[in-house]
Amino acid sequence: MEKTKFIWMNGDFVPWDDAKVHVLTHTLHYGDGVFEGIRAYKTDRGGALFRLREHFERFEYSAGVLGMKLPYSIEQLCEATRALLKRNDLPQGYVRPLAYHGYGVMGLNPRNAPVEVMIACWPWGAYIPVEEANIKVSSYIRIDPRSTKCDAKICGHYVNSILAVLELKGTAYHEALLLDSAGYIAEGPGENFFVVKGREIITPPLGSILAGITRASVIEIAKDLGFAVTERPLKLAEVFEADEAFFTGTAAEVTPIGSIDDRPIGNGKAGANSLTLKAAYLDAVYGRNLNYGKFLTFIE
Ligand code: PMP
Repeated sequence: MEKTKFIWMNGDFVPWDDAKVHVLTHTLHYGDGVFEGIRAYKTDRGGALFRLREHFERFEYSAGVLGMKLPYSIEQLCEATRALLKRNDLPQGYVRPLAYHGYGVMGLNPRNAPVEVMIACWPWGAYIPVEEANIKVSSYIRIDPRSTKCDAKICGHYVNSILAVLELKGTAYHEALLLDSAGYIAEGPGENFFVVKGREIITPPLGSILAGITRASVIEIAKDLGFAVTERPLKLAEVFEADEAFFTGTAAEVTPIGSIDDRPIGNGKAGANSLTLKAAYLDAVYGRNLNYGKFLTFIE
């Protein structure tokens, strides 16, 4: 991980190496924190954050699920992020806001624990740096809506994702795919999932997945490009018959999928429509398509 100069911690810009917490920080023990992943891109007009406000809206929603009242407004968090990237002289990179219960109480009732917020940023390239990802269906099922609020980006949820990723260790697969408890496709460990059939794009409905901001952006872009977009449950058998498949996510952007469980999707290479959507997404984030200028917050 490449360091930057400062991390924003509870309102202050703290030197990277000094941004520390106590080992009895509540969230370190129980996973009751919430986070975001945001990207900034270097456009012709300087660095710009993609859908900054929507990320902090989801951040506030996730915190609310844990009964955590954030001590900063969405506007303050957006402004802190802009100022942080400016101070770190980082026009392009990854931004990681985290809200957590701090030091002071133990036990499962976090109500009296302090709510702390930090925002860090650093340079980070492609998350799945391949033309097409070869993926494997996980033996783990995705977190279930009867067990938690799947649409909240809660730290503890990521143990499920991490187990799915660890299962691939020592194999040639690039990423996992998790099914829900009824056997329908849910999502990747950190990505939403789509298939393409002709000019139709199909993606699992909200329910047992994170409501991805890239997912929403790609749905909007796909509709603008004349694709029909359907949100409905998908079984693996149907996915194997699809023309193409791809993942979306802030980190993964649009990543075409070549195969699932060693069975090629289409011809096993990145599909033409997936590549069209990937290019259109990159045009949006890099400020090359003014129709999506509304999604950008310039750093200065
Ligand atoms: N699903 C999960 C489980 C994720 O962690 C992410 C990454 N935040 C996504 C989907 C994609 O969400 P977004 O497009 O908002 O980054």
